[in-house]
Amino acid sequence: MKKLRIDHIAIAVNNVEEALKNYQKALNIDHIEIEVVQNEKVRVAMLDLEDTRIELMEPISEESPIKKFLVERGEGIHHLAITADNIEKDAARATENGMKMIGTLRTGSFGRKITFIHPKSMNGVLTEFCESSK
Ligand code: ZN
Repeated sequence: MKKLRIDHIAIAVNNVEEALKNYQKALNIDHIEIEVVQNEKVRVAMLDLEDTRIELMEPISEESPIKKFLVERGEGIHHLAITADNIEKDAARATENGMKMIGTLRTGSFGRKITFIHPKSMNGVLTEFCESSK
C-alpha cells in the first residue's frame, strides 16, 4: 500500500508579509509563491520544502474562516493536508467511515481539488484532502 504524504501544513497569520519575514529568518527557503484564493477569502504564501509545503494564510475578508480562527485562537497551525491520489474516492471512504466532512469538494490554491474533515472527527485537527491538478 502506498504511504500517505503531507501535502502541506497551513498556518493562520495576521499578515503574510510579516509572517514571511519570520519564516525566512528561521528557515532557508528561497522559493515562495503568493496567491489570493478568492473562494476561501485568503491570501496564501506557499513555502516549498523538499517534499511538502508550508502555507501561510492571511484572511482577506471579515467573512473568511481564517479570520474567525484568528479571532478565537490567534495565529498558529490551522490544518494539515494529506495528498489524495483520488480525492473523490478518499472523501467517499472517509464519509462511509463516519467522518464529518466540511463543505463539498472545491478548488483551493494553485488549482488543487480540496475537501476538509471536521476537527471533531480528527481529534482536534482540521484535516484536508488535497489533489494536485498536475
Ligand atoms: Zn490547505
